[in-house]
Amino acid sequence: MKTRDRLRIAMQKSGRLTEPALELLTRCGLTFRQSRDKLFCFGEGEPVDLLLVRDDDIPGLIAQGVCDLGIVGRNVLSEFQLTAGRELAPLNELRPLGFGRCRLSIAVPQELDYQLPRHLEGRRIATTYPGLLGEWLRTHGVNAGVVTLAGSVEIAPKLGTADAICDLVQSGGTLVANQLRETDVLLESEAVLAGPLTLPVDERGDMLELLMKRLDGVIQVRE
Ligand code: ATP
Ligand code: ZN
Repeated sequence: MKTRDRLRIAMQKSGRLTEPALELLTRCGLTFRQSRDKLFCFGEGEPVDLLLVRDDDIPGLIAQGVCDLGIVGRNVLSEFQLTAGRELAPLNELRPLGFGRCRLSIAVPQELDYQLPRHLEGRRIATTYPGLLGEWLRTHGVNAGVVTLAGSVEIAPKLGTADAICDLVQSGGTLVANQLRETDVLLESEAVLAGPLTLPVDERGDMLELLMKRLDGVIQVRE
């Protein structure tokens, strides 16, 4: 692939992480020219551009070398690390960013008799995170059916397509509204700066180092 001399960061185009990610980059002194409804935002002051995409695409774009960095939930990054093919470059969590906090949890219908992971033996669990759920089930030696859904996981028990779910939880309000109770936390998540295992050693690498220094400064002030 042709090397670039400008750093390219992938971030969510429209969703929970969009505003806080842009705010963080702005605090790092970056400004961008193009409007937000575009895929590409050109960086004005520094040689740093943005690619605005669906959050699920971010790890793949970094692994393919289309982008140098990404701002994405640890949940999405970890799922990618567990499920991506070996032909793709491995990724690294460079920094936790302190926003977009949530957890990936098992939740069961309120009336289900559940105390331990082994009570899920032989049951069906709906999730958008088959990699992370599969790993947790293996760790606990549980054989359960994994039903992979693209969305609306929380209604699966009511529809009868699953006995339990494994989904992202923030306040727990969605679970309560669907008569579910949270039982196990698989992953504590927040937005992270993701990058390749080996960072570029050209001008992009210098800019990356500078950006990380500024990021650390901004994050420290916030804490
Ligand atoms: P996209 O269109 O980019 O695929 P999405 O619907 O997958 O959007 P959002 O719902 O905006 O994504 O969530 C983005 C990230 O925000 C999640 O991957 C997760 O890291 C974080 N997040 C924080 N709280 C929650 C929550 N309650 N539910 C879902 N995600 C949450
Ligand atoms: Zn998504």
